[in-house]
Amino acid sequence: MGKPRVATTSLCGCFGCHMSLLDIDERILSLVELVDFDRSPINDIKELSGPVDIGLVEGGCANEETVKVLQEFREHCRVLISVGDCAINGGIPAMRNMVPLRECFREAFLDGPTVVNPAGKIPDDEEIPLLLDRVYPCHEVVKVEYHLPGCPPSADTLWEALNALLEGRSLELPYELIKYD
Ligand code: SF4
Repeated sequence: MGKPRVATTSLCGCFGCHMSLLDIDERILSLVELVDFDRSPINDIKELSGPVDIGLVEGGCANEETVKVLQEFREHCRVLISVGDCAINGGIPAMRNMVPLRECFREAFLDGPTVVNPAGKIPDDEEIPLLLDRVYPCHEVVKVEYHLPGCPPSADTLWEALNALLEGRSLELPYELIKYD
């Protein structure tokens, strides 16, 4: 039997949660002994090769492309974990949820203090993914089995969560590994 497969993806996030995964430092050598990594920004593999045992998703859904990526990712993951506050509640990008979308566009492309846009046109090329009306946390788009809060969750939190799942233990993290900042 092959090793469990792990994949990760980033939606509307800053890659800080992936950096936190890299912060497990030398333990990453143990991790690659335990699992095979599929699609992930860490190995730059862009497509899933098939079903995976554990999927880690960073970031929420802000546009139609992130929804598509998340739905496809979910289909291939036996267990899906929302990693970090952006995946769990939208995080910083969700600050726009309090502002009507048209006003966001106006500020970004027309009225913002640093905007230079002599044409006065809001970009609408069909290549640009359509923005959603608001930023959605992952669990509002697909089923998510676990949430690891934090911005980002610590390397120790990620390490402990992965080990628990790989060893078939329930994911009951100690208090000191759960944080909301
Ligand atoms: Fe970045 Fe924090 Fe969002 Fe993770 S939770 S993607 S570290 S902003």
